[in-house]
Amino acid sequence: MDSVCFGFTGADRIDKPTGKGESFFSSPLFFQQAMDSGSSILITGGAGFIGSHLLERLLAKNDVTVLDNFSSGKRENLARCTGKANFRLIEADLLQPDCLAEALAGKDMVFHLAANPDVRLGAVDPSIHLRQNIIATHNLLEAMREARVKKIAFTSTSTVYGEANQIPTPEDYGPLLPISLYGASKLACEALISSYCHTFDMQAWIYRFANIVGERGSHGVLVDFIRKLRENPAELEILGSGRQKKSYLEVKDCVEAMLLCLEVSEEKVNLFNIGSEDSVDVTEIADIVVRQMGLKDVSYRYTGGEEGRGWKGDVRVMLLSLDRIKNLGWRAKGGSAQAIQSAVEALLRDGLA
Ligand code: NAD
Repeated sequence: MDSVCFGFTGADRIDKPTGKGESFFSSPLFFQQAMDSGSSILITGGAGFIGSHLLERLLAKNDVTVLDNFSSGKRENLARCTGKANFRLIEADLLQPDCLAEALAGKDMVFHLAANPDVRLGAVDPSIHLRQNIIATHNLLEAMREARVKKIAFTSTSTVYGEANQIPTPEDYGPLLPISLYGASKLACEALISSYCHTFDMQAWIYRFANIVGERGSHGVLVDFIRKLRENPAELEILGSGRQKKSYLEVKDCVEAMLLCLEVSEEKVNLFNIGSEDSVDVTEIADIVVRQMGLKDVSYRYTGGEEGRGWKGDVRVMLLSLDRIKNLGWRAKGGSAQAIQSAVEALLRDGLA
């Protein structure tokens, strides 16, 4: 199959209002159509947090292969998919590209999520994001070129904007000057993907995510707080000033946004911010976690940090302009606090690894 189509056209969107204040995109009809495709898809990093949600969504109507080295991904994240005839797992590492020809054979497109997403690590080992993000992405692109797989969806990040002086930050903000090695590596990946599209007639969808939270989340502030409070319910260490203020989106909402962009944007390189419309600060997050854990009288101990950052490379204010994706009809189902609440609920219910 030459093109990947999830069975939805822009005309459908305009012609099929659903009433009740709900957009067509958030309606069951859209999702039913969007998955009615029968494509053959590779997800790198499909055993990870976001990748496993994407996998479940795509598997409803597509053949999906996951390639993962399980560095941070988990086998239990694949539990709902294992054994299904249209699911295949390849345990392999993008840094050993010999496996890629087999993984890409007959594929219509690739969702490239495999990466080291830990922003803090860059200050400890400056080579991690170079290898796991940039070299791994280059290996994948080269293998796609050789296998003639033309479409790639890539999970980038708000950290490519660095400390933007325009808030909310739109996709065409510049110059892009990341302050973390993670952000730098993702920006380099964006550049590689764009250049491959223009040089080798490929097509890309690049998503710049805000902070994504939810069931199976395995890293980030929520996991950090829950772990610390389980160890010591009387005191919580908060990295930085607690005033770092960022936007959070629930993972299932994130996956729907990814699929919508794919469905209705057709440029050679399609770039979208994905997040929620508001932001919360770290102390507000601590309040939510403490409340949901049923704790009282927890004292907060702020590490202060350099200029109030939690760690070197921590962007203090992040809120993405969503005008571009909203023009497609997408709306986040809730704000940042709501996303955090439902994520904490899921993490407490399922337990942390
Ligand atoms: P995650 O760590 O849960 O998932 C990454 C997956 O990639 C894991 O399953 C891991 O085992 C796999 N992987 C890593 N290196 C690999 C390699 N060399 N070969 C094969 N597999 C490899 O992280 P996540 O939060 O699900 O993030 C998914 C993607 O979204 C990442 O690209 C991340 O940078 C991006 N992103 C995440 C967030 C967020 O808030 N979670 C925000 C912005 C961008």
